[in-house]
Amino acid sequence: MQAIFARTALTPNGWRKNVAIEIDDAGRIARVTPDSTPGGGATQVPMLLPATANLHSHTFQRAMAGLAERRGPQGRDSFWTWREIMYRFLDLLSPDDIETVAAFAFMEMQEAGFAAVAEFHYVHHQPGGVAYADIGELSARIAAAASQTGIGLTLLPVLYRHGGVDKRPLKGGQQRFGNDLAGFEKLLARAEDCVDGLPADTRLGVAPHSLRAVARDDLRAACAMRPGAPFHMHIAEQEPEIEEVLAAYGKRPVEWLLGEFEVDERWCLIHCTHMTDDETRNLARTGAVAGLCPVTEANLGDGIFNGPQFRAAGGTLGIGSDSNIRITVAEELRQLEYSQRLRDRARAVLPAHGQSSGRTLYDAALAGGARALGRDAGSLQPGKWADLVAVEPASFAGMMADDGILDGWLFTGGNDAVTDLWSAGRHRVRGGRHVAREAIAARYTTALERLMGLL
Ligand SMILES: [Zn+2]
Repeated sequence: MQAIFARTALTPNGWRKNVAIEIDDAGRIARVTPDSTPGGGATQVPMLLPATANLHSHTFQRAMAGLAERRGPQGRDSFWTWREIMYRFLDLLSPDDIETVAAFAFMEMQEAGFAAVAEFHYVHHQPGGVAYADIGELSARIAAAASQTGIGLTLLPVLYRHGGVDKRPLKGGQQRFGNDLAGFEKLLARAEDCVDGLPADTRLGVAPHSLRAVARDDLRAACAMRPGAPFHMHIAEQEPEIEEVLAAYGKRPVEWLLGEFEVDERWCLIHCTHMTDDETRNLARTGAVAGLCPVTEANLGDGIFNGPQFRAAGGTLGIGSDSNIRITVAEELRQLEYSQRLRDRARAVLPAHGQSSGRTLYDAALAGGARALGRDAGSLQPGKWADLVAVEPASFAGMMADDGILDGWLFTGGNDAVTDLWSAGRHRVRGGRHVAREAIAARYTTALERLMGLL
């Protein structure tokens, strides 16, 4: 048993004072007792929250953060020019690099307040597309990185078959992604072995990359591979992608998907940036999670999610760090609300009347993150995984209480507010630093120096 004592904590019954929390040896919350006194040996923190999950990440992209901010020699820079840089960078990465970068990114996620991550893992093969001796080599590297850091992992091996909706072959950097269905089944089985070697909160899901990379029949086959498991896909991120799907299928991506498939709560659709009002309402009603990555979407110039319509129709959303250009709970949620404000020229767009923006955004991320990862977490109650974060924001210390804590953290603070983090009871961030930071950061610096030398 582990014990925590929080002066203030966010419980399913709202904010409570002097809360004692016990965590069992499996990493689940055993007991939550408000109006308590600190027992001997308890970790004492001022403000304790359920920690949210990061529902979308490609960890390898952390190593190229900041390398694609120079404008190209001609024309308009876009997602597509960024993607060319990403593909070139990708070809430099060895299995050791993939593990080293993933461990560094996972560590940063925990220091930012994410207890768990859904790793949308699409790099499977050697540069040029030849499979490793073990088809699950790189899945095993992601699992090893999760093990080094103790983050909760939902591993999402990605099915990637074509270079476009017209089924053109993969080329260049894309060759590291490709599998036919038989190869993908083998990969999933190996990924399952990797997951079995990790703690009991680890999950395996399935991720068809996008409608660009996976055609109708393959999408149907992928759906049947692990019934009930988390099922994630990129959709409607960029306008040229909408046009491509419209030309091939006669419908817009979300419209087409909802007409062809029984989209339900196991689905997490990443980005959903370009939806009509009808698509927005219809998607909201399915219970699928809209996986928003506001910092990356801003960085790549994707566009702005239709938040008010989606929320009004009862939709579930969560946040992901996607390209990992910056890893931060606070800034993702702030960017989400600010993008709505800039578009609508209004304030407090996502909360209901009289509600706090910070609380609304954080509650949404907790619910959407847990659902998307298939993770029994997101709330401070007995039986749930002990995904917990303690914050002590210097910028508003003593000034705010209750929902104001979340308004303070998300709108005036950042990662430096996070003092402690537990992933399914694994207490890996203490005093604002990951307990393995020194070794993980040293390996990352060495790997990055080598990679920069190759560029
Ligand atoms: Zn992505």
